[in-house]
Amino acid sequence: MTDTKNDYQKILGSVQKPVKGEAGKTGSWSPKKPIIDIEKCIPAKSGKPSCFNCWLYCPEAVVSRTIPPKIDFDYCKGCGICMEECPVKAITMEEVSIE
Ligand code: SF4
Ligand code: SF4
Repeated sequence: MTDTKNDYQKILGSVQKPVKGEAGKTGSWSPKKPIIDIEKCIPAKSGKPSCFNCWLYCPEAVVSRTIPPKIDFDYCKGCGICMEECPVKAITMEEVSIE
């Protein structure tokens, strides 16, 4: 397991780390949610902790830095930044019903 706080500090220096759920539950705000294709995702394919752009750029801190990365739809606001920042186009925004 990784130390997320220290990982952010190493990568971003003094930039403030986002806090999951700061804006409250966002699950129902958007009809579209990011879906990760693990056949394309770099760490999922390689089994090695690399890339994680989705984790790094998510403004809601709802993507895990795990293999494979997982997204907490309860707090994801559907902004699509993770999709834009994925270097291999492994993320697509799809209509997902949140229960
Ligand atoms: S940005 Fe794309 S390739 Fe990189 S970890 Fe996220 S889903 Fe995988
Ligand atoms: S759509 Fe936005 S809030 Fe949701 S996981 Fe991607 S970057 Fe984070």
